[in-house]
Amino acid sequence: MRPEGFLALVSELRACTACAGLPLGPRPVFQLSPDARLLITSQAPGTKAHLSGQPFTDASGDRLREWLGLDEEQFYGGRVAILPTGLCYPGRLPKGGDAPPRPNCAPLWHPRVVPMLARVGLRLLVGGYAVRLVLGKDTKLEDAVRRYADFLPSHFPLPHPSWRTRAWAARNPWFEAEVLPALKREVARALAG
Ligand code: SF4
Repeated sequence: MRPEGFLALVSELRACTACAGLPLGPRPVFQLSPDARLLITSQAPGTKAHLSGQPFTDASGDRLREWLGLDEEQFYGGRVAILPTGLCYPGRLPKGGDAPPRPNCAPLWHPRVVPMLARVGLRLLVGGYAVRLVLGKDTKLEDAVRRYADFLPSHFPLPHPSWRTRAWAARNPWFEAEVLPALKREVARALAG
């Protein structure tokens, strides 16, 4: 895609108001660059990312960067693209926890945005929504993470790096022992590409 086409699409995405009833209003949070080698498809921004306008400016972001072996400069430096399943803060569920990403968002934007990231060599699928969006609606998150090698070299499924994942990782030591070293290796390979 020509640079002006890329910029026009980014401007269009930034101005999206397709969803009614977003609790903090529409504010798409994403990170795109034509030089990106790594694409992160995550869940949806939280309140901190909504306020900053930058993805993963929170404790989950710190944990994700630790998993990937990247510092903030590398993470925000132009070689990493971030396109959530839902780009605007979706609010909270009445019982607690984040509401799901808006279901119309990925079908509206992903088919237009993903193909323009022509230099991406690896797509991380972070959390159950991203895993089901890309690998199929019946895909079980933990099963996909265990079988991460089956999806290489193009995709790498991961749990969401929220505080809840600490307890899950403690119950599943294979994640830190086997999956995270492989993840760091694959991320380094993609960024060097
Ligand atoms: S969630 Fe997606 S579709 Fe809805 S307003 Fe935000 S960018 Fe647009």
